[in-house]
Amino acid sequence: MSWEISHGNMSDRSLREEEIWYQFTWFFYKSKKTQTYKFGLIKALIENLYNTDQNLQLTYDQISYAFTKVYWNLVIRHGLKQGKQNSSVAGAIIEAQVTRNLPVNLSFDQLKPQDQLSIMEKTSPAMKRYVFGALYSDFSGILYGFDRRSRMEYFEFHPDAHVFLLKYQRLITDLVNYHLAKMIEQYNPVTKDFLLEKVESVAQRESLQPYRDILISRFENNCFYCSKSLGRLGRQVHVDHFIPWSLVQSDNIWNLVLSCRECNLNKKDKVPDDSYLTRILERNESLKSEKILIQEDQSLYNYRPEKLELLYKYSDQNGFEERWAP
Ligand SMILES: [Zn+2]
Repeated sequence: MSWEISHGNMSDRSLREEEIWYQFTWFFYKSKKTQTYKFGLIKALIENLYNTDQNLQLTYDQISYAFTKVYWNLVIRHGLKQGKQNSSVAGAIIEAQVTRNLPVNLSFDQLKPQDQLSIMEKTSPAMKRYVFGALYSDFSGILYGFDRRSRMEYFEFHPDAHVFLLKYQRLITDLVNYHLAKMIEQYNPVTKDFLLEKVESVAQRESLQPYRDILISRFENNCFYCSKSLGRLGRQVHVDHFIPWSLVQSDNIWNLVLSCRECNLNKKDKVPDDSYLTRILERNESLKSEKILIQEDQSLYNYRPEKLELLYKYSDQNGFEERWAP
């Protein structure tokens, strides 16, 4: 298990920004998260960007202070659960708050230093144990190097990652907060009315029926992917987003194809193989040649093949690098 890693060397290569963005994208959309810990650690690291020594090192106390502050706010002040079960860190904070009878309406900064210390004594071991190795692995060592074993303790930013975080601090913080809030929403039933949910649902899917009819009435009698005849399959004809909906978040006819049920369900959120890109580009040329369709469909009017090619190319950077074929 990656969280069990007790130490890891920092990558000694120099890093391009693109590579760091890629790793962040992977982290946000692909990495496994059963607790909110990794988000908490990134927030703690960002808060400490300006506190590093000349070797870009931080002490575990510096990180622990910021990390505990994040959880005090979420767990004590707002009473939010962080996972299916209460995490070790949340449990430790709740215990300390109850035992020392600390006021729940104060921020962590406002607590007395001796109270802060006693809480950190409980949270720090859990933080060290569960988070550093996991986040280190998610970033393949390009974010930091660390050793959490007691006699060799150190934490050190990769110089390029440090510059990157300074440069895009605000953007990364927003992204972390967004994904953190989304995760917390899952574990806190009252959050159905959370603003974030409402903000996100702007891009709700519309019915694809009209597109289905247009495509069927034209030429598409076969599954775009496996070529199986869709002849009389009726309701079994699926409309598939060539570039997954979770990436484009809109329904444009130039990104829609007809497919059989199996292909549609199999493909899910994946981007089709290269050969299908050529096919859909050709298909779109023929759609676009129909003047009547262009008048009806604004998205087709603005369609250029380069648009779809770019979207296809950038799907990698957005975490859709896996290619699919039936
Ligand atoms: Zn098929």
